[in-house]
Amino acid sequence: MLPTRIISQDGSCKYSFPLESNLRMESAFFMVPGRERPNIACISTQLGCAVRCQFCSTAEMPFFRNLTAREMLSEVTTILEDQYGPRILLEGFEVSFMGMGEPLANLKNVLKAVREIGSRYPEITRVSVSTAGPADRIHALIREMPIAPPIHLQISLHATNDETRRTLIPNAPETISKLLSAARKYHDVTGDQVFVNYVLIKGINDSPEDARWLARLDKEAFYIKISQLNTIAGLPAHLVPASMKEILQFSSMLALMGAAHKVFVGDGLDVQASCGQLAAIPREIVQVELQEEECSTVNLS
Ligand code: SF4
Repeated sequence: MLPTRIISQDGSCKYSFPLESNLRMESAFFMVPGRERPNIACISTQLGCAVRCQFCSTAEMPFFRNLTAREMLSEVTTILEDQYGPRILLEGFEVSFMGMGEPLANLKNVLKAVREIGSRYPEITRVSVSTAGPADRIHALIREMPIAPPIHLQISLHATNDETRRTLIPNAPETISKLLSAARKYHDVTGDQVFVNYVLIKGINDSPEDARWLARLDKEAFYIKISQLNTIAGLPAHLVPASMKEILQFSSMLALMGAAHKVFVGDGLDVQASCGQLAAIPREIVQVELQEEECSTVNLS
């Protein structure tokens, strides 16, 4: 079966690749004007995920298996060919290993895929990897440096104390200090600022104390990315997304404290292509089969 694509009203696309036993690997494509690399392919690294973040659709399914490097590459090439046709434009294109799965739990295949991307598409000058840990996987990644294209590391923190983090990410119970110290080492080795992902949840991790804690992170090594909690089926009732107004208030607190940060606004929400939403395809949305001749004629609604 061919992969399918769902197009969001904002132009983002969600791709779904049928695999064995009715399983699907899902990926997304986003255009973020104004960003240094405005075109992003967000790809999956595992079928299911054992980390079990409470705010993620992937966590609702069991962990089935790691994706192979070849499968990850097919996510990238399908998106590139669909978006750009035979005249592949790679300027400002970034591959982000942030879809379904914990990339560093499948490190060997992820590294193989990154190296293959580097040799097949030398114009791609950076890939991103987001991880919830553990620290020893970050150290294993460090041992592979340098790698082409370079890997921009992001860590999924989402809390400023271990107890809260354990409730949000039950299977990543490692201490925050161990995770941060491995990420710090990554910065020291690569010189790259590590992004700290922090999804803002009302009454859970949005207090002034949380802001103060985040503002104390070393600005040279870390850059905080605050994002909104996306709605998914099965989101536990106590996890209430902070509103955009509350996010901006939290951001103002961080700014007053001099924290290096930005507010990240997710795209593709209407087709469930945004953070934490992959793995659930809304049936009411029309899927378009990626027949080669149709690729360039599919219009955004
Ligand atoms: S957010 Fe990422 S690490 Fe957490 S359960 Fe979902 S796919 Fe796994």
